[in-house]
Order: sequence, then structure tokens, then C-alpha cells
Amino acid sequence: MRFELLIAGPCAAESERQLLDTAAQLRDEVCAHGWKLTYFRAGVWKPRSKPDSFEGVGETALSWLAEVQRQYGLAVCTEVMTPKQVEMCLKHDIRALWVGARTCVNPASVQLIADAVKGAPVTIMVKNPMIPDLKLWAGNVERFLNAGVPQVIAVHRGFADSNENIYRNAPRWDIPIDLKVQFPDLPILCDPSHICGHTRWIPQIAQLSLAYGFDGLMMECHVHPEQALSDSGQQLTPKQWAEIIASLSFKTNVPNHELLKQRALLENVDTQLSELLAKRFQIVDEIARIKRDNNLPVVQPQQWQQVRKRYLKPDQDPQFQDFIEQFLKILHFNSIKRQQQ
Ligand code: PEP
Ligand code: MN
Repeated sequence: MRFELLIAGPCAAESERQLLDTAAQLRDEVCAHGWKLTYFRAGVWKPRSKPDSFEGVGETALSWLAEVQRQYGLAVCTEVMTPKQVEMCLKHDIRALWVGARTCVNPASVQLIADAVKGAPVTIMVKNPMIPDLKLWAGNVERFLNAGVPQVIAVHRGFADSNENIYRNAPRWDIPIDLKVQFPDLPILCDPSHICGHTRWIPQIAQLSLAYGFDGLMMECHVHPEQALSDSGQQLTPKQWAEIIASLSFKTNVPNHELLKQRALLENVDTQLSELLAKRFQIVDEIARIKRDNNLPVVQPQQWQQVRKRYLKPDQDPQFQDFIEQFLKILHFNSIKRQQQ
């Protein structure tokens, strides 16, 4: 078994030669391995942080992409930021477009793009916004579904994170998994290139995305990554790209009934836990009422020490003990907050 959707190509279209050479090498790799490249990618308009950076060559590159389509039979895709760019892409018969992480922070811009593609036979890939906001990402997906776009695909490219992090954009796997729960039929791709920012971490992130049930990968490839005009450190040669894809272990994608059974058991426990916690909330409210009516303080410090003693046993697994300690703290502080209200 392998990924259903594979997208590869340079960060940016720099010259017709660079595009054709990258496409030729990628085509050779996919033929040699018996894979299918869903789309060849290249950014034509690049949203860069600094105005003196390479911002793409613009419309001229659309005809280079059309040439890749014609010469190698590869479907192509590019990024759009404005309705005008959508119009130019459709004119050049580019039928797959992605909306980048920067555009995706602004629902008004996303809606303008959704209006521009209404009724067009296009595939739209919606990257996660720069900030870890599930609602915003889900809302952007909805805008394209509402516009009647024939195929919408989500792309997890990691989130800007001010914490110390080895990645360029922190992968917050819980967020795309939550998106999948909201939209079970929505294919989700992982973009390890923009998560990692460096080729070194790409294999492990690609493998992890498989374990989390992603439907495919979008990765940056360049014939000469070291000469790339943008995102040089994270681009792979087509050969390196193929080596990574070939090295992935797809075992985790095979349905495993033992695992499914354990998951079902876990779900039962979680259901009981959530019912018990709801009951606990009711008791906390009752305690709050009694304290108020009797003019007793909300916080009674010795109470917390007693609770700790009751549940923390010296012979417990240290990891479990640590977990229980954190869990009790959450319960305790929440209960104080609620009683104060
Ligand atoms: C890109 O794919 O080249 C790109 C700019 O991506 P993102 O919007 O994820 O930064
Ligand atoms: Mn890039």
C-alpha cells in the first residue's frame, strides 16, 4: 500500500529549464518505481516575508507549467493569493491550486478566492493557517466546499511557533486529526518540507504522517537545491525524494484488528471517564453552595495535601505517578476556579 496523493516540485518556478529538468527527473523516478505523481508543483507568485526576496516570476511561469503538463503528461498545481491570479491560472488551464498558509490567516482573502473559483473544474488545496487555529482552517475548507469546488484537499504544513523548536513550523498533529474528524471525507496531505525547513528531518516527519493516517505528501524538489532562489535548505533532489518515498514503511496503514479492538476498549474507558468527570462537576457545585451558605473559604490548603497523599503511592510506576499528579492538579485548580465563580 502507498500514499494515494503525491505532489512534488520546486518551491518556486525560477526558469523554464529548471522546471522542465525537475519534472523530467521526477517523471523518471515515478516511472522507475511504478508510482503516480498526482501533481507537479511550483510557486509562480511567492508570498515572502521580506520584499527584497525572490517573489516568483509571475504569469510567465504559467506557460512553463503548461509546458510541463504538455511534455511530460504531469498535472500541475500552483499557489494563488488573489482572484486575478485564479483567473490567470484558469486561462492557462492550471486546474489545481493551493492557498498558502499566509493567505489562510485571512478569511476575507480566502473568500475572494473561493468566489473566483466558483463553478470552475478545479482542485483546491487549503494549507493550514500560520497560527494553530482549527476553526480558521475548518472555516477556509468550508468556504471552498460551499463554493461547490469539485475536490478540496487540506495540507498540514506546520504552525509558526515562538517556542524553541527544531522544526521551521511546528507540526501539531492533533489539529489536522481534529480536522479529519470534522470532515471525514476530506483528504489531508502532509507537507514535510515546510514543517522541517531542512531536508534532515523530512524522512521522520513523512513517516509520522503515515502513522497518523494522512492521505499523501506534498514535498519540495529541485534539480539543484543548493541554487534554489527560495527555501533552498528544505528542497530535495528528485533522487533524494524517491529514496525517501521508497524507504517509508506502510505497515501502519494496514487495518489492524487487534489495534482496533484496543481502541474500542479505550473509547469505553474514556466514555466512563467523561461521565464520572461530569458527575464530579455536579459535586463541586454542591460543595461550592455549602461553602457559600456557611461562609467557608473556597481554598483549604491541607485538603490538597490529603488528596495528593491518598492517590500518590510510592510503589507506582514513576511515569504514572507523574501523570496522576498532573491530573489531580488540573482537577483541583479547576474545582477552585468553579467554586469561586
Ligand atoms: C509553498 O508551498 O511554497 C508555500 C509558500 O507554502 P506555505 O504557504 O505552506 O508556506
Ligand atoms: Mn517553499
